[in-house]
Amino acid sequence: MLAAAGAVLAGFLVAPLVRGLVARFAVPEGEPWCAACPLCGREVRLLPPGGRCPGCRGRLGAGPWSVELVVAAVAVAVARAADGPSAAVLGWTAVLGVVLGFVDARVRRLPYPLTLPLAGGVAVLLAVAALTEGRPGVLLRCLLAACTVGALLELAVWLGALGPGDSPLGFALGGLLGWFGWRAAAGGLLAAVVLAGLWASLRAAVELARRRPVRGLDVPVGPFLLLGALLAVLAG
Ligand SMILES: [Zn+2]
Repeated sequence: MLAAAGAVLAGFLVAPLVRGLVARFAVPEGEPWCAACPLCGREVRLLPPGGRCPGCRGRLGAGPWSVELVVAAVAVAVARAADGPSAAVLGWTAVLGVVLGFVDARVRRLPYPLTLPLAGGVAVLLAVAALTEGRPGVLLRCLLAACTVGALLELAVWLGALGPGDSPLGFALGGLLGWFGWRAAAGGLLAAVVLAGLWASLRAAVELARRRPVRGLDVPVGPFLLLGALLAVLAG
């Protein structure tokens, strides 16, 4: 109970940064990052839960309290799943993962300035965790899992089923899940495919009910990859 309360508190402390990053990176392909409020020009770094610019009170980025609720829920899940050495890598993935999930849901892209630090941070923090635990051998499994999941998603990108940002995310999440074992890596990927499929079916059913064409359903894959990874870590 105390751990959950601490996790929620930590979540609310990082939420303004997460919300600021969502506002900065949730811009359509080909447009510059939104480093400043488009209404008043004030630099955007931290944003309050209401999602309003501190300068002009104009609305920026994600809806009110949406980021904060997701951050708090993920923080509780991570506090539950962390096994000591993996806490830092899970925390890093949770913060950047929530940003990526919101950005992908809003603009259907996973920007490299977010996926590359995620992958790099996961690699470094896994190495630190493995060495402090005195079992460097686990790093080989993490590397193989990262390459397997990353390559599978890269194949899907090559076949046109996914966007180019999905494979670096898969590489990072594959490495993280490799820490928890091959079953976690396979389970996380499978859960992501099933959840994305269910979401696409639901969207298609809604479109059919509204008598609209269901072709070209635009489903963001990033949030499902992240959710699948979280469920796999929790199940492990
Ligand atoms: Zn403003």
